[in-house]
Amino acid sequence: VVGVLDVRRRIGRPPFTKLDRQLIEALANQAAVAIENAALYGELEKLYRNEQEITRTLQELDKMKTNFVILASHEMRTPLTILKGYHDVLLSAPSDTLTLMQQRSLSVCQRTVDRLIVIANDILEMLKISEGQIILKTTLVNFLDLVEEVARDLSGFVERRNQKLSLTSTGQISNVSVDPEKIRLIMLNLIQNAIKFTQDGGEINITLSVESESIHIIVQDNGIGIKAIELERIFDKFYTGADPMHHSSGKFEFSTRGTGLGLAIAKNYVDAHHGQIWAESEGIGKGSQFHLLIPMK
Ligand code: ADP
Repeated sequence: VVGVLDVRRRIGRPPFTKLDRQLIEALANQAAVAIENAALYGELEKLYRNEQEITRTLQELDKMKTNFVILASHEMRTPLTILKGYHDVLLSAPSDTLTLMQQRSLSVCQRTVDRLIVIANDILEMLKISEGQIILKTTLVNFLDLVEEVARDLSGFVERRNQKLSLTSTGQISNVSVDPEKIRLIMLNLIQNAIKFTQDGGEINITLSVESESIHIIVQDNGIGIKAIELERIFDKFYTGADPMHHSSGKFEFSTRGTGLGLAIAKNYVDAHHGQIWAESEGIGKGSQFHLLIPMK
């Protein structure tokens, strides 16, 4: 029972008719609905207030988590840089000072420290991006030169993996107004991934062309390929598609995963240039193609 509607007849008035009863019943029904709605509304309001409180708590927790990660990454960078410096000093000592075994061990330490620095920088970069702090420093850039430079920087790793890397361009690629450092990082990430996710002896082809007011770059490999359902998710933050328990990180070794931030950062940089980035693959074992469209204006 949500309520009682009590209707009385005044003395001397004629008795209620059937029509009166129907009318009162209809009124009672409507009143019941209104009362129930009001109660529901009260509940909803309570729920809404709870939700707002939870959202506020979550936002505070998220801020705390972000601050913690920023602090941890910052704090990590200084000791890592010092470690790197000492490794460099030791490794540049005259060759008879250290045994071969010591030199090898030091090189492994040096590479590991380098990787940790990259991870700390990636995390800081991603945090800056999520706080909306991408500032482009644009200048006129010769795109072909820039991509060639990145490919050249990585050629040592391509050789080490016994892979072949080709770079071709078609059409007149004019100078473009972009942030060269950001484009460099995007290309570095795409080519580095192509090297990592392609077996020894595999092939990587980079092509540049002009397509309706944009530069179209394709980084194609004949490596492990990507499942259709993962083609979009690989651009999500921290997505590596691999079980983190079996995570191994390396810069260029076959199939090693990093932080899963490389493509997320690349996508944010591409968005900041009003461009597009996407991946294509016919599936596992069928290689991958990464497309990049950067507007020329
Ligand atoms: P990371 O390389 O640090 O793991 P990325 O954000 O660069 O992170 O890439 C995310 C994931 O996308 C990789 O872990 C991998 O699963 C997949 N991926 C990226 N590039 C390729 C590629 N060329 N071939 C196959 N898979 C790729």
